[in-house]
Amino acid sequence: MNTIPNVISRTSKSVDWLFDRELEAADNASEAEYDRRERIVGSIRTAEVLDEMAESMTVAQEEAFMEALNRGGNKDVHTLYCLIDQFKEAIVKRRLAEPAPRFSMTYCSQCGKALGPGNSGVSHCYSHGA
Ligand SMILES: [Zn+2]
Repeated sequence: MNTIPNVISRTSKSVDWLFDRELEAADNASEAEYDRRERIVGSIRTAEVLDEMAESMTVAQEEAFMEALNRGGNKDVHTLYCLIDQFKEAIVKRRLAEPAPRFSMTYCSQCGKALGPGNSGVSHCYSHGA
Protein backbone atom coordinates (compact mmCIF):
# COMPACT_ATOMS: atom_id res chain seq x y z
CA MET A 1 0.00 0.00 0.00
CA ASN A 2 1.26 3.41 -0.90
CA THR A 3 1.54 5.63 2.18
CA ILE A 4 2.35 8.87 0.36
CA PRO A 5 -1.29 9.86 -0.30
CA ASN A 6 -1.94 9.29 3.42
CA VAL A 7 0.95 11.55 4.41
CA ILE A 8 -0.19 14.21 1.97
CA SER A 9 -3.73 13.96 3.24
CA ARG A 10 -2.59 14.25 6.87
CA THR A 11 -0.25 17.14 6.08
CA SER A 12 -3.03 18.88 4.23
CA LYS A 13 -5.34 18.43 7.23
CA SER A 14 -2.66 19.89 9.53
CA VAL A 15 -2.24 22.87 7.24
CA ASP A 16 -6.02 23.34 7.21
CA TRP A 17 -6.05 23.11 10.98
CA LEU A 18 -3.26 25.71 11.32
CA PHE A 19 -4.99 27.94 8.80
CA ASP A 20 -8.24 27.66 10.79
CA ARG A 21 -6.39 28.59 14.02
CA GLU A 22 -4.87 31.62 12.28
CA LEU A 23 -8.28 32.70 11.01
CA GLU A 24 -9.74 32.19 14.46
CA ALA A 25 -6.98 34.32 16.02
CA ALA A 26 -7.57 37.03 13.42
CA ASP A 27 -11.34 36.86 14.05
CA ASN A 28 -10.79 37.16 17.80
CA ALA A 29 -8.47 40.12 17.33
CA SER A 30 -10.89 41.97 15.07
CA GLU A 31 -13.75 41.12 17.43
CA ALA A 32 -11.76 42.55 20.36
CA GLU A 33 -10.97 45.64 18.28
CA TYR A 34 -14.67 45.98 17.36
CA ASP A 35 -15.70 45.61 21.02
CA ARG A 36 -13.14 48.21 22.04
CA ARG A 37 -14.47 50.63 19.44
CA GLU A 38 -18.05 50.03 20.60
CA ARG A 39 -17.02 50.70 24.23
CA ILE A 40 -15.33 53.95 23.17
CA VAL A 41 -18.35 55.05 21.09
CA GLY A 42 -20.64 54.26 24.03
CA SER A 43 -18.51 56.20 26.48
CA ILE A 44 -18.51 59.51 24.59
CA ARG A 45 -20.68 62.15 26.26
CA THR A 46 -22.65 64.91 24.54
CA ALA A 47 -20.52 67.58 26.24
CA GLU A 48 -17.37 66.00 24.77
CA VAL A 49 -18.81 66.13 21.24
CA LEU A 50 -19.87 69.75 21.76
CA ASP A 51 -16.41 70.65 23.12
CA GLU A 52 -14.81 68.95 20.12
CA MET A 53 -17.07 70.94 17.78
CA ALA A 54 -16.37 74.23 19.57
CA GLU A 55 -12.61 73.63 19.51
CA SER A 56 -12.04 72.18 16.06
CA MET A 57 -14.79 73.41 13.72
CA THR A 58 -13.51 75.22 10.66
CA VAL A 59 -15.18 78.44 9.57
CA ALA A 60 -16.77 76.62 6.60
CA GLN A 61 -18.12 73.87 8.87
CA GLU A 62 -19.53 76.41 11.29
CA GLU A 63 -21.23 78.30 8.47
CA ALA A 64 -22.73 75.07 7.10
CA PHE A 65 -23.84 74.07 10.59
CA MET A 66 -25.52 77.38 11.41
CA GLU A 67 -27.17 77.69 7.99
CA ALA A 68 -28.57 74.17 8.33
CA LEU A 69 -29.71 74.87 11.88
CA ASN A 70 -31.42 78.10 10.79
CA ARG A 71 -33.20 76.51 7.79
CA GLY A 72 -34.15 73.29 9.60
CA GLY A 73 -35.32 71.31 6.56
CA ASN A 74 -34.92 67.54 6.13
CA LYS A 75 -31.67 67.95 4.17
CA ASP A 76 -30.43 70.33 6.86
CA VAL A 77 -31.09 67.77 9.59
CA HIS A 78 -28.90 65.36 7.61
CA THR A 79 -26.18 67.99 7.34
CA LEU A 80 -26.34 68.62 11.10
CA TYR A 81 -26.12 64.89 11.77
CA CYS A 82 -23.13 64.46 9.45
CA LEU A 83 -21.27 67.37 11.03
CA ILE A 84 -21.93 66.22 14.59
CA ASP A 85 -21.00 62.62 13.71
CA GLN A 86 -17.76 63.82 12.12
CA PHE A 87 -16.66 65.35 15.43
CA LYS A 88 -17.76 62.29 17.40
CA GLU A 89 -15.69 60.11 15.02
CA ALA A 90 -12.67 62.38 15.57
CA ILE A 91 -12.92 61.62 19.31
CA VAL A 92 -13.31 57.87 18.59
CA LYS A 93 -10.24 57.88 16.32
CA ARG A 94 -8.16 59.72 18.92
CA ARG A 95 -9.17 57.28 21.67
CA LEU A 96 -8.54 54.26 19.46
CA ALA A 97 -5.02 55.56 18.86
CA GLU A 98 -4.38 55.57 22.62
CA PRO A 99 -3.00 52.27 23.95
CA ALA A 100 -5.71 49.89 25.16
CA PRO A 101 -6.08 49.90 28.95
CA ARG A 102 -4.20 47.11 30.73
CA PHE A 103 -7.30 45.72 32.51
CA SER A 104 -10.81 45.37 31.09
CA MET A 105 -12.17 46.16 34.57
CA THR A 106 -10.65 47.93 37.58
CA TYR A 107 -11.95 48.16 41.16
CA CYS A 108 -11.79 50.20 44.33
CA SER A 109 -9.95 48.20 46.99
CA GLN A 110 -11.91 49.90 49.78
CA CYS A 111 -15.50 49.31 48.60
CA GLY A 112 -15.08 46.92 45.67
CA LYS A 113 -16.90 49.19 43.21
CA ALA A 114 -16.24 48.36 39.54
CA LEU A 115 -14.62 51.39 37.89
CA GLY A 116 -14.43 50.33 34.25
CA PRO A 117 -11.40 49.64 32.04
CA GLY A 118 -8.08 51.13 33.15
CA ASN A 119 -4.42 50.55 33.90
CA SER A 120 -4.95 50.26 37.66
CA GLY A 121 -7.63 50.25 40.32
CA VAL A 122 -7.78 52.70 43.24
CA SER A 123 -7.07 52.08 46.93
CA HIS A 124 -9.54 54.49 48.51
CA CYS A 125 -13.09 55.63 47.82
CA TYR A 126 -12.06 59.30 47.70
CA SER A 127 -10.15 58.47 44.48
CA HIS A 128 -13.39 57.66 42.66
CA GLY A 129 -15.33 60.49 44.19
CA ALA A 130 -17.37 58.52 46.75
ZN1 LIG B 1 -14.66 52.85 46.79
